[in-house]
Amino acid sequence: MADDRFRIFARRRSAARRSPFIALLLAILPAPARANAAGVAAAALPLAAPDRSVMAALPFADPDHPEMAAFPFAGREGPEIAVLLGEVPARISVGCAPGHDLIIEDRAGTALAAAPAEIACARASLRIDGGAPRRDRFRLRAGPGALAGPEARGAPAVIQIGAVRYEGALEFLPAPDGSGAWLLVNRLPLERYLLGVLPREMNASFPAAALRAQAVAARSYALFHLLREGPGAFYHLRADTSSQVYGGFSAEPAIRAAVAETRGEVLLHAGQAFETFFHSTCGGCTADGAAVFGVPANPALTPARCGDCAHASHYRWSCTLAESDVRRALAPLAARHRAALGEILAIEGVERGPGGHASYLRVVHRDGSFEVDGAVFRGNLAEHDVRGVRSTAFECWRAGADLHFEGRGYGHGVGLCQNGARGMAEAGAAAEEILGRYYPRSQIAALW
Ligand SMILES: [Zn+2]
Repeated sequence: MADDRFRIFARRRSAARRSPFIALLLAILPAPARANAAGVAAAALPLAAPDRSVMAALPFADPDHPEMAAFPFAGREGPEIAVLLGEVPARISVGCAPGHDLIIEDRAGTALAAAPAEIACARASLRIDGGAPRRDRFRLRAGPGALAGPEARGAPAVIQIGAVRYEGALEFLPAPDGSGAWLLVNRLPLERYLLGVLPREMNASFPAAALRAQAVAARSYALFHLLREGPGAFYHLRADTSSQVYGGFSAEPAIRAAVAETRGEVLLHAGQAFETFFHSTCGGCTADGAAVFGVPANPALTPARCGDCAHASHYRWSCTLAESDVRRALAPLAARHRAALGEILAIEGVERGPGGHASYLRVVHRDGSFEVDGAVFRGNLAEHDVRGVRSTAFECWRAGADLHFEGRGYGHGVGLCQNGARGMAEAGAAAEEILGRYYPRSQIAALW
């Protein structure tokens, strides 16, 4: 039997730049906020304890990154972040909150028109309400209307597309790849962005401490990408699972409380922002970030024991899939890499972490075998609608015409285990204890 032993790699995430930007970020904050910065080296220290040790580790001037000074700050709501919502569809209708007007502006903020209602997109140009085609970026925002009635007072200035409401500005940008598509980007303060992330990433019925831990993790994740992409980036994050899921304005009281009570709090390791991954259920022990995502080794993303997700529905799972379905899902990938793919006999984990999460999966088939990155494997199954494999921590064997899987946990396994956070919170743990477990040796700093 020929053995095509080679590896199909993930689109591994680009190595995270060291992030000295955080220093300038702190440097341009107003003094009271800086004095507020608190370091929590161990989980038990209260967040409010003023601890300058984090600050002392940060050089305040970074001549290599003067562009950080260009980040627009929105005071207590944090820096502005740009979120890619997707490509502009052929035709969209936009509206805004009662008592507000939609304002259309060019890049410099000069008003071009008021109250557009319908935007049509075709062949690299956009038309607003049937007007002349536009080829340059522009943005929409909601401002107080000329005839604002009592209903406008205190109402957030949101823009509405279909049933989804957005705070901040909606930017329309020609795609930088020259494809002729237009991109739709929501620019808004980071704290307001979190209101649209939390309810999509964690059930609002989870205990308050778990929601607060999730808010800090999501804020830290966003800050890392904001700093890495820089202020001039077309966008910093996507609105889907390739970043963290964002669904626009949310007024859910439990979500608003979790965000407000942790305002400005981010996780740092050795004074640097890092990619604070999180997932649904680890299955007993979390996975190593460097092994799963190929990011630089970071003690804050190393495996942590977790017994608190044991009651979650995917703590242990099993599924049986038709071998032919799995082969169909992997065939395009194998063909792209000129790998043979015969009838699949088994799928084995390679380079397993302590929780069983595999960096690679070896597909053993009648004509040989190859190894495929765990994330790519799961992505390909999902793309071909082959459902049931919830993590890479599984054993798999052939059973007749089927492949049978017995597995642990749901998701990639790195960082915060959301169901573990829930279990810890139900047992009385505070958000800082939860974060201390899943991001070992990290610190919490209050940046704004
Ligand atoms: Zn867990």
